[in-house]
Amino acid sequence: MTALDRLDCRGTTVEPAQVNAHTHLYSGLAPLGMPAPKAPPENFLQILERVWWRLDRALDEDTLRASARYYVAHALLAGTTTLVDHHESPTFIAGSLDVLADAAHELGARLFVAYGATDRNGGPDEGRRGLEENRRFLRHNTRPRVTGGVGLHASFTVSDETIREAGRLARELGVRMHVHVAEDGADVVDATRRGYAGPLERLAQLGALPRGSILAHGVHLSEPQVRDAESRGCWLVQNPRSNAGNRVGYARALVASRHVALGTDGWAADMAAERAGLRVESQSAAQPLDGELWRARTGGGHALAAELWRDWDDQVAREPDGRARHVSVAGDVVVQDGVLVRAELGKIVEDAKHAAARLWSRMDALP
Ligand SMILES: [Zn+2]
Repeated sequence: MTALDRLDCRGTTVEPAQVNAHTHLYSGLAPLGMPAPKAPPENFLQILERVWWRLDRALDEDTLRASARYYVAHALLAGTTTLVDHHESPTFIAGSLDVLADAAHELGARLFVAYGATDRNGGPDEGRRGLEENRRFLRHNTRPRVTGGVGLHASFTVSDETIREAGRLARELGVRMHVHVAEDGADVVDATRRGYAGPLERLAQLGALPRGSILAHGVHLSEPQVRDAESRGCWLVQNPRSNAGNRVGYARALVASRHVALGTDGWAADMAAERAGLRVESQSAAQPLDGELWRARTGGGHALAAELWRDWDDQVAREPDGRARHVSVAGDVVVQDGVLVRAELGKIVEDAKHAAARLWSRMDALP
């Protein structure tokens, strides 16, 4: 007898709920009219500088809360109960992970959080404050469905010392790392300029790849590097729609590992849409994933979730058209008849629209 057995599931298919293995709740308001940058970005670094690194600097506590609630609500309504989040809000660091955790706790979702420490705005002091937020949160969090690790933004925005410190903290707390690795060629170029074979080797040499670490993207890793990551017990997370949107390339070498999950990298947590994106992108990269490989890639998130939560048994009852009728998390119904159980969607959307307008004007006012 499971939670959904008490509800009318006639005409639906009951299946395991979905896992989004890499995303960013902080960008949850982006679909609500985020203005295009004044000068169109021409490469990946410019996309970061002109879009996401402006959005994250403009976030304050209220806009982050609205963003997280909006994102989590729509994830649950899509039948995605489990979110692996990578967070950054450089002008609101201390306490930020609690805002995300509260949103998940309130709505009933599972959330893995990590603050992506970086030195890119404020040097090593910013890096330390990011790591401190991970430490503070991991020591005090008691929400049963929320867990976390230590985050770094990416190798190319941190010093050796920040990486070493992150690794020390992860070992001290017995948690995994969550970091962007080789998303774009620029990350590889940076690591080689610093004297390392690449960003993966840099993290490994500086002691920041504990077992279970979650490495987002790996687009510019080779097959031997992907095998190396797997032998270290690391997860790689492919984000096919985001990679295509940012034109960073297709993550071809990930076929060398069976520890690969799917993420949306901030896009809405509709994993059917992400799988469709994977289908399209893998075919256009002339590397179609079939049979066992397809099942491993699309089911990887469930294996990762089972590592993170021993009680993971979340379910969704889907209509024939794919919409989620009922969703359960750890035996609790969180969506019933297509409606959130614990909060009112209309209010969440209303708050999100007001917060979005404020956020776009704060972004516009940044230097
Ligand atoms: Zn990301």
